[in-house]
Amino acid sequence: MGQVKFAVRCAGCKGQAIALMRPFGVRGTYREATAEMVAVRITCLSCGNTQESATGVPFELWYKADVRGQLLWFNNEEHGQALLEYIEGSRERPEFPVSTWVEVLPRWMLSSKNRIVVAEKVRELLDG
Ligand SMILES: [Zn+2]
Repeated sequence: MGQVKFAVRCAGCKGQAIALMRPFGVRGTYREATAEMVAVRITCLSCGNTQESATGVPFELWYKADVRGQLLWFNNEEHGQALLEYIEGSRERPEFPVSTWVEVLPRWMLSSKNRIVVAEKVRELLDG
């Protein structure tokens, strides 16, 4: 498994930064063995600010938006793309590890009346 990177907001300039994620601690269940992820290094793409911590740097996700009073978010571009494909129905059976979060997608996001607006918002976020 490759390194997991999240798109986050720089604590300094508020630009987009990349967080290198690591599992921290292990939960007892099989499904969520790596559920606890922490950012061990955050590097800003704009100002070059770097923060490191073995136990995790606090972070705010870059890709998040309000959709009809609900919080839409995704970790990175790949996650957003997969989410979009899933919502639009072109991804029938998500592959692991995508399935781990598709299973827990909130019902509001998948309801037929919200699908289109959610898909639009995901695109908007991805396009920046
Ligand atoms: Zn910055």
